[in-house]
Amino acid sequence: MTRINETSGGKNDEFSDIQAKNTVVINLSKDNPDPEKLEYCAEVIKRGGLVCFPTETVYGLGANAFDPAAVKNIFKAKGRPADNPLIVHIAGYDMLNLICRGGENQRNRISLLGKEYWPGPLTMIADRDPAVPDEVSCGLQTVGIRMPDNKIALELIRLSGVPIAAPSANLSGKPSPSKAEHVIKDLFGRVDVIIDGGDCRVGVESTVLDITGDIPAILRPGAVTLEDVIKVLGKGELPDWKKAPKKGETPRSPGMKYTHYSPDAEVRIYDGKDIGGVRSFIAKEAEKEAANGKKVGIFTTKEGAYAYDGKRFAVTCAGTRDDLLTVTHLLYGALRDFDKKGVDVVLAEAFPQTGVGNALMNRLYRAAGGCVIDIGDN
Ligand code: AMP
Ligand code: MG
Repeated sequence: MTRINETSGGKNDEFSDIQAKNTVVINLSKDNPDPEKLEYCAEVIKRGGLVCFPTETVYGLGANAFDPAAVKNIFKAKGRPADNPLIVHIAGYDMLNLICRGGENQRNRISLLGKEYWPGPLTMIADRDPAVPDEVSCGLQTVGIRMPDNKIALELIRLSGVPIAAPSANLSGKPSPSKAEHVIKDLFGRVDVIIDGGDCRVGVESTVLDITGDIPAILRPGAVTLEDVIKVLGKGELPDWKKAPKKGETPRSPGMKYTHYSPDAEVRIYDGKDIGGVRSFIAKEAEKEAANGKKVGIFTTKEGAYAYDGKRFAVTCAGTRDDLLTVTHLLYGALRDFDKKGVDVVLAEAFPQTGVGNALMNRLYRAAGGCVIDIGDN
């Protein structure tokens, strides 16, 4: 057994209902993880413990998917609402048969999309096998399944010998963790192990695709886009994620009804026909907020740097508009950094909702609690 780098870290007052744990932080190389240390982590999973691990999307907070008590502890550790189901992570197609009861149509879709995108940032919602406990699916007859593209994650699942149920490794409502330091801040003292395996390549959560209906539907946009799905399956849809479910209506993806990904700061998105006009507008808004004594953060890209006073405002230039995948990758870290700097209000430029821009705007929109200010033709 190896215990490495015990860290004293994040204290969270808002969820004081669980017993403090002696969290162990373990450093592992992304490309060549130490098998002995991984074996220790797998033992923790087998014993019903909680292990945070890196994936290519965000860090996950994992437990044995077949152990209802361990799964319940995931919800406690995060403060996650009890009706928000978990994604089950598998290391190979042999594990698929343990959790999926889908018929030929679903199997075909999994096999076609899996060939292209697994391991990768795509979760497929399929009919669940009764072996998957209610605690994972929150009573739904379906289960979310993903094969993550990260050596540490795949080896951890393989050595544990069971599929691992894992939501993102953040306190519920906070931005998902794209770095181990985010996990330590939120969950130190609440889980058994945190694996530090470096930064997550994608940096936002997986695409969630419901394959149970006639037309495969994206319930949560991610790095695998609608265009990608249509290319493989010949059909697909991305229902409007801005539409709130009607009163009494059960949302297809329960997680999407919660305000997620929010930093402590208030976030507002500014949209308009001309990005130059949007920037001038934001710059004036920033002045107004500062005059009211607020600390202002601005989320832009390197093209927008000229428009804002970096000495007076916390300006984050997240990559370039020509590469929305990089902007997406940097989003959650930027939101957490604004909080670290004590920013009160974040003014963010809107991005085009094409391809991965859908994932970017979806997360930004939810961080902003739906606050989008359209300045029109200005
Ligand atoms: P997280 O793992 O925290 O990123 O959240 C998982 C997301 O997948 C949530 O938005 C869930 O609502 C969604 N999800 C998981 N399982 C299902 C399922 N069986 N049906 C619909 N959505 C699901
Ligand atoms: Mg989450």
